Amino acid sequence: MIPVNDLKRSYALHASEYEAKALEILRSGWYVLGKEVSLFESRFAEMLGSKYAIGIDNGLNAISLGIEALGIGSNDEVIVQSNTYIATMLGVTHNNARLVLVEPDEYYNIDASKIEEAITTKTKAILITHLYGQSSNMNKIKKICGDRKLFLLEDCAQSHFSKYNSKNTGTFGVMGFFSFYPTKNLGAFGDAGAIVTDDPILDKKLKILRNYGSEKRYINSVVGYNCRLDELQAGLLNIKLAYINELNKERNTIAKRYLEEIRNDNIVLPRVRKNASSVWHQFVIKTKDRNQFRAFLSQKGINTDVHYPIPVHLSAAYSFYGWKKGDFPIAEEFSNEVVSLPMFNGMINQEVDTVIRAVNEYGKNS
Ligand SMILES: *Cc1c(COP(=O)(O)O)cnc(C)c1O
Repeated sequence: MIPVNDLKRSYALHASEYEAKALEILRSGWYVLGKEVSLFESRFAEMLGSKYAIGIDNGLNAISLGIEALGIGSNDEVIVQSNTYIATMLGVTHNNARLVLVEPDEYYNIDASKIEEAITTKTKAILITHLYGQSSNMNKIKKICGDRKLFLLEDCAQSHFSKYNSKNTGTFGVMGFFSFYPTKNLGAFGDAGAIVTDDPILDKKLKILRNYGSEKRYINSVVGYNCRLDELQAGLLNIKLAYINELNKERNTIAKRYLEEIRNDNIVLPRVRKNASSVWHQFVIKTKDRNQFRAFLSQKGINTDVHYPIPVHLSAAYSFYGWKKGDFPIAEEFSNEVVSLPMFNGMINQEVDTVIRAVNEYGKNS
């Protein structure tokens, strides 16, 4: 079976370096907030073009903490796209702020032309997700945030080093939120995340919030959390970070072949927006009869996945919002029709051939 993703392959690409670093950290006797975290924070910020990075224990906590640091809470509204992963929304509702959903465009990102009509006097921020690895329409969104005095926040859990007008996602607004969950483009070997910002006050605030509300040991200025990135994950991320451009390039090569060689009227291929780039966290196609398509590929030895089968507005978790079927028809259509094809570091050419051949055969002579 060709998997949708295979983390062992990506590990194997630089296994000896990961193993040496893991041993070094294990033997060092220093495991939390040390030189690996500091090094990762400074390198990651520099590579992105941001002033500060704050290592956080995972992507969801990065979003939650970031929103808290801005003082956004009950009676405030945050605009989020209707087809994002639930973690984006959890970061908002954990702060008791209200979600206002806006439908996506044909690139699976927030439809910037529909943002203005969702803004109210309570709106404090627009939290966009660069879904599947492609940058959103940053010119337009940045202008709206500037005109309406709203915080621009970016969920970059799927878009490490994806660009708009040659500028990295995560550096357009007041904060960028990153996840380094193992399957992400820059994946750790456990949970990990980060916030990036150019604001020194936010940097300081976030470093205090993630560490019990304490700047100096036993001196607690605010009611904080324990949301720290650990040394082991940071050390392993420092190794992977050195290869991230190569790793993203490899994904791009696979995506390029899919885009050039898949020819099937039953399939809608993804498109990349003008001035935007994708780092192909997922290669997502659309097809009307998804079950049939997935069964056909499975028969040919190819696994596929769906990101995501239930739109968040219809999930039980948010039943208290009273959303119902038909409220966000585009998100619903996407959740019924999207399929993710195999896309991972270490995927070999013959596997890409097999996927292309099978997708092209689908529906041809049945
Ligand atoms: C993975 C992901 C998150 C959450 O990151 P974790 O590290 O798993 O908590 C948030 N938003 C999006 C869009 C994601 O894909």
